[in-house]
Amino acid sequence: MLRIKDVNVFYGDIQALHNISMEINQGEIVALVGANAAGKTTTIQTISGINKCKSGSIEFMGERIDNKPPNKIVEMGVVQVPEGRKLFPFMTVLENLELGAYTPEARKHKKETLEMVFEMLPVLKERQKQLAGSLSGGQQQMCAIGRGLMARPKLIMFDEPSLGLAPILVQKTFEIIKKISEQGTTVLLVEQNVQHSLKMADKGYVLENGRIVLEGKGEDLLNNEYLKKAYLGI
Ligand code: ATP
Repeated sequence: MLRIKDVNVFYGDIQALHNISMEINQGEIVALVGANAAGKTTTIQTISGINKCKSGSIEFMGERIDNKPPNKIVEMGVVQVPEGRKLFPFMTVLENLELGAYTPEARKHKKETLEMVFEMLPVLKERQKQLAGSLSGGQQQMCAIGRGLMARPKLIMFDEPSLGLAPILVQKTFEIIKKISEQGTTVLLVEQNVQHSLKMADKGYVLENGRIVLEGKGEDLLNNEYLKKAYLGI
């Protein structure tokens, strides 16, 4: 579904991604894990078309997207739930959700998608008239996920969805991501929470200083000696 090949990305003179290659098959949950500043957000922003590749290519469903603007990439079905939620705090939950459905196709199906989102994330239905900025951290994460779903993605990319959440909410967030996957949406999960994300992933990539240093099945990576030592402290 998504093929990233030998991608190099720079911020000015500084290279943030070095020859990144990744593949995501339809229906998979793929985890991209790594420490602070490894380049995880840069990878998502590059897939989304916000950062540009200096070289390399990104294909989505057989079509090059690395030369397309972000809005076209969203229209094709590649949607991100950004790090830090990035909600509009002075707008209501409902208004935030509706903003997710701005593409012509998503707009057509807005009502039914909203019902699906409310069914999956009932707290959003209860709090639809509340200002997004007044929600708790966990509820804000649900709202950001709901907004992403409103775009009717084929591939949904989560940038550190567990960041700043209490352990019980981390668990809940991962359960929701699993459910989204089970309902047929392909998932790219970018996380510092190595254990949780690799456990639920079909495949994982480990990013260090802008380079992929390990890849494999989620479970195999969790048993990898280097990964255990460097990321899990065991
Ligand atoms: P975090 O978990 O802290 O978000 P990350 O793995 O997502 O980390 P990135 O945010 O992609 O990492 O950053 C990768 C590298 O690129 C870091 O060295 C960072 O300082 C640098 N970087 C990120 N954004 C910019 C920018 N806009 N301008 C210059 N350098 C940047």
